[in-house]
Amino acid sequence: MKSFTYTGQPARVIFGSGTLSRLAAEIERLGCGRALVLSTPEQADHAREVMSRIGGAAAGLFDGAAMHTPVSVTEKAMKTVADLGADCTLAIGGGSTIGLGKAIALRTDLPQICVPTTYAGSEMTPILGETANGVKKTQRTLKVLPEVVVYDVDLTLSLPPALSATSGMNALAHAAEALYAEDRNPVISLMAEEAVSALARALPDVVADGSNRATRSDALYGAWLCGVCLGSVGMALHHKLCHVLGGTFDLPHAQTHTIVLPHAIAYNAPAAPEAMAALSRALGADEPGRALFDLAGGLGAPRALRDIGMPEDGIARAVDLALENPYWNPRRIERDTIHELITRAWAGEPPEAG
Ligand code: NAD
Repeated sequence: MKSFTYTGQPARVIFGSGTLSRLAAEIERLGCGRALVLSTPEQADHAREVMSRIGGAAAGLFDGAAMHTPVSVTEKAMKTVADLGADCTLAIGGGSTIGLGKAIALRTDLPQICVPTTYAGSEMTPILGETANGVKKTQRTLKVLPEVVVYDVDLTLSLPPALSATSGMNALAHAAEALYAEDRNPVISLMAEEAVSALARALPDVVADGSNRATRSDALYGAWLCGVCLGSVGMALHHKLCHVLGGTFDLPHAQTHTIVLPHAIAYNAPAAPEAMAALSRALGADEPGRALFDLAGGLGAPRALRDIGMPEDGIARAVDLALENPYWNPRRIERDTIHELITRAWAGEPPEAG
């Protein structure tokens, strides 16, 4: 066994079906009684359901959460926090809504309860990305790590098939890169392999029949583990590329991850044999990059960056940006091979064999 450092992140996790019924007790357990419920405009109904469950412990609703946590939205929510005298936040939704709860926690230290309804995994990380004047800045601080996470499988039943597919692939990316992270460790690697296995098994069934609680439960369990991986060890080429592509061309988050992942994994395959062995076991296939490409295809998810709005003349700019600010990756980042990678991902071609 090689030497390693493992840092556990404190978090209380409640997982199951019907767990919304536990929310009132969790608010009380935190010593709170005035929760500001957060959601996107599209999930205001989910938020109202939560408010009716927690009754008098709901101070009010802010349903203006938006993608990439714009500071302008956070400022409006901060006014609501002050007006209502909220003593905790209860975020119900995906990464966008959970991001808003984290942004409020950063400014106020209010405890957070999260009820995730996608597979993005933000609820398990001490990471916050905020956008101001078109620039997204990401920071890592324990101030934003949620205190309590309540996974209720029932809420994921309404996640549409297309979003289930791409959100699930987004989650897989966290686990896949955790397996070759510079600061990887045996505990997180165990979780990562289990996560990839659970999600790869569940996602085709989830997309075929989103109302099946058993497969939804497997997918959410896998997504939870993926979130732990993201919050515990550093990420590499894949996350860097998605950050560059999403930020530069305003591409949708989960779809971008879905398209890039097979290519990033195939790129790193020659330099990360142990990670590839774990991915091969979890995916039941010899070539993990190709297997992820096939999985995305089977889910009916997009596989070409050109299909989600990236212009062809953006490839050269993306390569330049991917090479800026050296960052750790198991394989050296070289201009020609990265150009080839992005070109294939743009065109929707399978990844190069590793
Ligand atoms: P999202 O939160 O933007 O949700 C997408 C849409 O789906 C929203 O309109 C939402 O209301 C809706 N939706 C969510 N769950 C639903 C459900 N069960 N039924 C019906 N509709 C539902 O998408 P996301 O992919 O979860 O999050 C993306 C954002 O999260 C990005 O800004 C990304 O940067 C951030 N993120 C942050 C971290 C982190 O650790 N800080 C990790 C992952 C993602």
